[in-house]
Amino acid sequence: MRWENLAPDSGHSRADAALFGADAVTTRTFDTPEFAGITFHEVRARSVLDRVPGASRMPFEWTLNPYRGCTHACVYCFARKSHGYLDLDTGVGFDSQIVVKVNAPDVLRRQLAARRWQGEHVAVGTNVDCYQRAEGRYRLMPGILAALRDHANPFSLLTKGTLVLRDLELLRQAAEVTDVGVSVSVGFTDTGLWRTVEPGTPAPERRLEVVRTLAAHGIGCGVLMAPVIPFLGDRPEQLRATVRAIAAAGATSVTPLVLHLRPGAREWFASWLGRHHPHLVNRYERLYAEGSYAPKWYQRRITRQVHDLAREYGIGPARAELPRRLRSAGHPGAGPPDHGSPVSGSSSGAPVPRHTGPCPSGPTRLSLL
Ligand code: SF4
Repeated sequence: MRWENLAPDSGHSRADAALFGADAVTTRTFDTPEFAGITFHEVRARSVLDRVPGASRMPFEWTLNPYRGCTHACVYCFARKSHGYLDLDTGVGFDSQIVVKVNAPDVLRRQLAARRWQGEHVAVGTNVDCYQRAEGRYRLMPGILAALRDHANPFSLLTKGTLVLRDLELLRQAAEVTDVGVSVSVGFTDTGLWRTVEPGTPAPERRLEVVRTLAAHGIGCGVLMAPVIPFLGDRPEQLRATVRAIAAAGATSVTPLVLHLRPGAREWFASWLGRHHPHLVNRYERLYAEGSYAPKWYQRRITRQVHDLAREYGIGPARAELPRRLRSAGHPGAGPPDHGSPVSGSSSGAPVPRHTGPCPSGPTRLSLL
């Protein structure tokens, strides 16, 4: 299907052609309630291993993202901006226009077999969640994990999706031949906050069930405690409840990361904040006056509190009785290393990913933007 031949409202764009080849885009919708209002753009990628630019602060060099856009629809998602590169809307469009690299497993297998590939660590799902709802239908991850396993290629993945448990056996097999890191993202356990700010994700408790199940099967799993949301999820009792729940789930490590609001995410989050918590707008303007990140003093305060709680609840080396090759992993998508260093003594040796990002809505006049 060629993008030029599509009607203007078809959901296709010039970027489809620019990024994936003019002949490679097929658009689908599905009549099931689960996918109501969602459009899938199936593309055949030429390459699925992306090199992180040298200047990046990410602690990994190679990433693999089988999807673009994410139905988990987190208001704060930093990846929204990247949807704009495809000429797709970074608000509702990010949540509902999902690009699917349908040939990702085959292309990965080919790239891993290439003579020039040196077997470097691959961070999976660093931009958007590789276990979002679409994965239930497209089933790309089993092929990806099998390819990594067959080439004994080290990798890590980070997710908010419970679907990762479907691939538990593949993770175990991979961990027998290479280093595997798994992390789950749980920034808070407040269900009221969850419903509005992460509307498409499984509830925090269900994500912690994933941690529990992985641990029960010998797969150590770290928790990226991200994002800690200022004034909404940062009260001492909230931090305590979250770390306590993470510890009770058997996490091998906890890595706090304060909300960051880069362009793309910032606008969407500001709009959401103005609608749901207008009394906080001025405080946010002050806290993020210097740019995308909260001030260092605030980040240090949160990190110290979480680390103290982690020690109190025993998350650390004493809990990390992991098989040799199983490590809790951070994702590349979870954030720059200086924002997400593991708790002291944690078993997390893998890079931490970054997906934490924002949501759609009406106009806003926040100078946050
Ligand atoms: S933060 Fe992660 S789970 Fe949430 S929308 Fe972004 S990519 Fe999806």
